Amino acid sequence: MIKIGLLGKSLGHSISPLLHANAFNDLNLEHQYKIWDIEESKIASFIQEIKDTEVKGFNITIPYKEAILPFMDEIDPVAMSIGAVNTVHNINGKLFGFNTDILGIQKTFEIAHTSLNNKRVIIIGAGGAAKSIIYYLNSQNIKYLDIFNRTKDRACNLAIDFHKQNAVSCHDFNDVDVIKIVEQGDIIINATPYGMAESQLVEQLPPINAGLPWDQCISKKQLFFDLVYNPQVTPFLEIAMNVGANFIGGLNMLVFQAAKSFEIWNEKKPNERKMFLAAKDALK
Ligand code: NAP
Repeated sequence: MIKIGLLGKSLGHSISPLLHANAFNDLNLEHQYKIWDIEESKIASFIQEIKDTEVKGFNITIPYKEAILPFMDEIDPVAMSIGAVNTVHNINGKLFGFNTDILGIQKTFEIAHTSLNNKRVIIIGAGGAAKSIIYYLNSQNIKYLDIFNRTKDRACNLAIDFHKQNAVSCHDFNDVDVIKIVEQGDIIINATPYGMAESQLVEQLPPINAGLPWDQCISKKQLFFDLVYNPQVTPFLEIAMNVGANFIGGLNMLVFQAAKSFEIWNEKKPNERKMFLAAKDALK
């Protein structure tokens, strides 16, 4: 049986197997989606093994999206420019790396009918997901970008990736101007694990409100996007809901990136709506 799967660490609660199993069934493909939860020191031997087997490809998630790059034979220009691969296609032992997160982000904004033109955007987080968002923002004419991160240096390193260098600032969570910045933001994006199920941060909001209740620094004119998809409504999205603001959860992005990976491996488009409904059901 042809195998596809997910490479990463601490993957016990991933819903990727469910998403792909749904699409395999729907398209009558006798494929199996496996989980490869391995230590970083084992990546080289894992790669060697899969090159000689029926593994058609795999996704990569935290924390190996960057570590996998040296093992690729070819890297698609988008993935190369972000410096992160989340999809690998194995063609006769040659490994081709792609990044489908970008498409996930793009389609998420498209279905929300959200124009980023001339908007002030705030990103909380400076990891791989934040990096993908900045790659996408570079294709949009946004007005200003503020990046907040626990580790300020990482936020400032990421700011270098933004193409308008006179329209970007980096901050840690204790920045004195935080309230003003949050009030001025049009779109606020959480790209950290704050609020994520099965983590210590599950009930927590990103702490960039300088100790003020969040509802005193946000308004219904703003849009909130949380990359966390489990739970579907995180504490970050709850505060948006409470002030009557629009919000988007991370599940759309997850489904769109998974569907694009599926298409790369199988040269067939899966039914994204069915995948979305299966995931939504599983996360109830
Ligand atoms: P990552 O590369 O490991 O980066 C993690 C980010 O979260 C960093 O900014 C890190 O800050 C911050 N962080 C982690 N633990 C923290 C803590 N205890 N307190 C404060 N900040 C903390 O991960 P990633 O790939 O960017 O993913 C970030 C989030 O997005 C995850 O929740 C992931 O599930 C989600 N995501 C969703 C999708 C989707 O399809 N919906 C896709 C990708 C990612 P430091 O720099 O200070 O360590």
